[in-house]
Amino acid sequence: MLINNDTIVKDNDPLMRTKSEPVKLPLSVEDKNILMDMYNYVKDSIDPELSEERNLRAAVGISAIQIGIPKRMTVIRLTDIDKNDNEILYEFCLVNPKIISSSLQKAYLQSGEGCLSVIEEHEGYVVRSARVTVEAYDALQDKHIRIRARGFLAIVLQHELDHFEGTLFYDHINKDEPFKEIENALII
Ligand SMILES: [Zn+2]
Repeated sequence: MLINNDTIVKDNDPLMRTKSEPVKLPLSVEDKNILMDMYNYVKDSIDPELSEERNLRAAVGISAIQIGIPKRMTVIRLTDIDKNDNEILYEFCLVNPKIISSSLQKAYLQSGEGCLSVIEEHEGYVVRSARVTVEAYDALQDKHIRIRARGFLAIVLQHELDHFEGTLFYDHINKDEPFKEIENALII
């Protein structure tokens, strides 16, 4: 499946507001292929040459609904700093991921969020939980996993899982005061 900046479903399409369906396990060949295409997209999108050549927009995650498939599948691939200040590559091909717990403490990205499906800029703090625990089947490792995420990874997980509910990042921005300070929030 060809995935590029032109084929990705944008937020003016009502599809982006629909709920995604759970996926049957074990994965069908078709679903595996969809996940691999999504994985290749995020991987290639951060390569300047490939992204130029194939009209890709840099991404740390993509959900199936963004390529027109309303199934609870998402791919996340990003580099972050772990607890011991080491750089670590996180990559997942998640199927039916579910947040099983989230911290009361909030967090947001200082520079705001972006999305492959959103062209227009939406300024403001996208307030989320600072830490989440997610359970899912990970097709990359071929097993059920539990992710205890904090910081940037926690934000990206919540952003992608929101797509399953038809929620977009700017829904979380305070309409009256987009840059309202949040008490005790972790600023990333
Ligand atoms: Zn998005």
